[in-house]
Amino acid sequence: MKRLLLASLALLLAYMGFAQNNCRYQEYQQQQLTANPGLAAIYDKIEQFTRTAQTNIIAGNGNNAAPLPVPDNITIPVVVHILYNQASQNIAEERILAQLESLNKDFEASTADMAKLPVYFRPFVANVGIKFQLAKVDPKGFATSGIVRKYTGIQNFLYDDRVKNSSRGGDDAWDSDKYLNIWVCNTVSGLLGYSSIPGGAKEIDGVVINTGVFGLGTGTNKGRTLVHEIGHWLNLRHIWGDGYCGDDYVDDTPKQQMANRGCPSGEKKTCGSTAHGDMYMNFMDFTDDACMYMFTFGQRQRMRNQFEIGGPRHALLYSTAITALPLPAPIPVPEEVPMQVSLYPNPTVNTVILQTTGGQNLLGKTAKLFTQTGQLVQSFIIQSNRQSIIVSNLKNGVYFLAIENAGLTTPLRFVKQ
Ligand SMILES: [Zn+2]
Repeated sequence: MKRLLLASLALLLAYMGFAQNNCRYQEYQQQQLTANPGLAAIYDKIEQFTRTAQTNIIAGNGNNAAPLPVPDNITIPVVVHILYNQASQNIAEERILAQLESLNKDFEASTADMAKLPVYFRPFVANVGIKFQLAKVDPKGFATSGIVRKYTGIQNFLYDDRVKNSSRGGDDAWDSDKYLNIWVCNTVSGLLGYSSIPGGAKEIDGVVINTGVFGLGTGTNKGRTLVHEIGHWLNLRHIWGDGYCGDDYVDDTPKQQMANRGCPSGEKKTCGSTAHGDMYMNFMDFTDDACMYMFTFGQRQRMRNQFEIGGPRHALLYSTAITALPLPAPIPVPEEVPMQVSLYPNPTVNTVILQTTGGQNLLGKTAKLFTQTGQLVQSFIIQSNRQSIIVSNLKNGVYFLAIENAGLTTPLRFVKQ
């Protein structure tokens, strides 16, 4: 029994050690479908579209605006929402920029890792033709760094989309027709990231990444959890098809039995008929960051098809979040100084001054002077912010000054001596 426990522990540790690219693709999609069974038909429709879309078919879209064909190089505006519970999670801008730079290199297949690729897989490597750039214009039209930083009281986020909701400790999505939303936060142990797939609700569209694997901050991390998750965001499946020798709906990725972990080498044939075995260096496997570095032409086509006319990501081609001139920053409204009204000197003999300071004035308003018993003794129109009131003819005693429609909360009172 003890030996069995130790063996289990060893397995668990091995699993944790190699779980560099664990995402919750299946669990998350299942959760979405359970919450909204109508999604299944939408996903199916998008799947059919993804398989049949042809590059650069131009058709009318019914509103006279010329539909955009998919350009050779697509640039996607990105907003990075940084949710931090501890100061160390509020990561530096350089790390965010480094992550985007490596992401772009991975998508164009221009990393030094390519030298490690076996000769027999080289013909399959694709430059996807999609770039990611921090937004320059926010949803209201103002200039932005494309980075939103926010403290959260939540220590560990699950894959329940709480991170995408400002009222639940996260940060609301920016319009997913114009931006790719990336939420960076501390997730529960074992969860490195997850992504929505095309067809879900706009408010939860985007990618969630654990802070520790975002950017090039630590050891073996090469920022490839984000590459993998954006693959899902563009409708790629895991390379093993999430089933025993399953189907990822991509023709040029070999079938493989299950996820690969760690850093395999040599030909690893797991589903019989493949020529050179598993393509374990594919971004859509579960291998270590250092050992995954390619997308295929088939995956490129599948991702790019999302942008075709009628496709779920087509609207992003019209986003001006990088190209538009931002509106000038709004002029700050000066804080209104509350009005203060006073009477002095107090007590007085001949004259009392009614002094008004602050935001508004009392010019033109009617003031009335009363005795302590409520008898009106004088009435006048206020003509100055420093108005003299002659009181030399009044009997000694306490007097009250009332000002019509002045909104004063405390009575004005003075003593005549
Ligand atoms: Zn995944």
